[in-house]
Amino acid sequence: MERILNYIGGELIAPQSGKYLENVEPATGKVYGEIPDSEAADVDLAVKAAQAAFPVWSKTSRAERSKLMLKVADLIDQNLEELAMAESKDNGKPIKLARAVDIPRASANMRFFATAILHESSEAHQTDDEAINVTVKSPLGVVGCISPWNLPLYLFTWKIAPALASGNTVVAKPSEITPMTAYLFSKLCIEAGLPKGVLNIVHGLGPKVGQAVVEHNDTQAISFTGGTKTGKQIAATAAPMFKKLSLELGGKNPNIIFADCDFDKALKTSLQSSFANQGQICLCGSRIFIERPIYEQFRDAFVEKASKLKIGSPYDDSTQVGALVSAQHLEKVMSYVKIAQEEGGRLLCGGQIVEVEGECSQGFYLQPAVFEGLAYDCRTNQEEIFGPVVTLTPFDTEDDVLEMANSTDYGLSATVWTSNLNRANRISRDLHSGIVWVNCWLFRDLRTPFGGVKNSGAGREGGWDALDFFTEKKNICIKY
Ligand code: NDP
Repeated sequence: MERILNYIGGELIAPQSGKYLENVEPATGKVYGEIPDSEAADVDLAVKAAQAAFPVWSKTSRAERSKLMLKVADLIDQNLEELAMAESKDNGKPIKLARAVDIPRASANMRFFATAILHESSEAHQTDDEAINVTVKSPLGVVGCISPWNLPLYLFTWKIAPALASGNTVVAKPSEITPMTAYLFSKLCIEAGLPKGVLNIVHGLGPKVGQAVVEHNDTQAISFTGGTKTGKQIAATAAPMFKKLSLELGGKNPNIIFADCDFDKALKTSLQSSFANQGQICLCGSRIFIERPIYEQFRDAFVEKASKLKIGSPYDDSTQVGALVSAQHLEKVMSYVKIAQEEGGRLLCGGQIVEVEGECSQGFYLQPAVFEGLAYDCRTNQEEIFGPVVTLTPFDTEDDVLEMANSTDYGLSATVWTSNLNRANRISRDLHSGIVWVNCWLFRDLRTPFGGVKNSGAGREGGWDALDFFTEKKNICIKY
């Protein structure tokens, strides 16, 4: 039984209550470890450690901060296999995916922000011949970073890297459902020589630990990625305290396929954008709109490929669809399969629980489900399912598809497949979403602004936006 510990003040320590939660392996459904069931007192200890570290870390030169972060990035690369295995075991995702995407992206996040601060500049505005205005940026102090379970180390580092690079000290809370790689990361920080208290990681339940980070008087900003409902609660707590807030929330993303697209590319990528990570990526395109002339051709080819996806042990290199993250989440996704049927949807394939043979027989596996025949405004097409369930809907005109695509409360990302550049421009302009991918999906450049509109969030991460979020700008006006 593996027991993980909090990382506070540079030490790996037990929660003050001495209580632990069970950590379940989604692939087998078995408990395999223990997680600190931390409380507000542990968060307070972490905030105090971060406060103590702030004066020195905020004054540490950019070159030195960068060097330490690059060392951590190198250690992630050196421990790729162990981290990929841990991520797969904690989350249920195919190890192949963790090895190719999650862990390399975690070191890329560290490297990106470690080097970005070496190239950052601030603005100056000359006001006629009267004065010069200089913008200076300062770190905020102690900041809180709260991340979800779907891309555990990937999203954890996506937050803490810009926070640390900017000179803040951090109290972070990974999801209690997938804490293992954050724990291994804390060991790498110790190995790299990150000064004590610069990063603190407190494990435990969201409503206890996460809430305590948000409502602590001495956390100056909260960067949160997770569900829209939790985001609302965090905003309700943090806004009256005038904390800076970055909220990356849920999505219900449209994937729009025009008849003039590159059919094979659209088909192959749509399969990924539907079911990668068992559909548990906030950017997955769960509503597929297909222009009527190719509707049947696309539907039949898509269903054929979806029904052939290999579901099974995430530790098997040939697995394409692993386990969902928990029994509770599987139940939630299954409830939507039922809702879709009640709403009149035709199930074209999947939607059944899969019993994998051998060691994984008690794991949380679901055959990817494809529906057609649902109204664009029904619950299945409006609510975030966050699992391997997609709907197919034909459309006739650009206006029709825009109305359907923009009809949800969400606006995180959208995908458009067409070979007509004018149309790609028009549709991209008119889609209500923070990100539009044309003829691709999840093709990321870390310099670009990342975030959603409507209930998908507030604020932008990535590039200079992230460094701006974690700093306060001050204007100094010097009269000539
Ligand atoms: P949750 O909102 O349930 O949890 C996210 C994090 O917040 C977890 O660490 C959780 O802890 C913590 N938390 C829960 N309650 C509180 C609280 N009251 N105060 C502070 N923190 C709290 O989301 P999930 O983990 O279920 O992640 C899935 C969601 O994340 C989906 O909606 C998905 O779309 C969204 N997401 C958005 C992304 C984006 O970039 N926009 C990217 C990835 C996911 P614990 O797990 O211990 O409860």
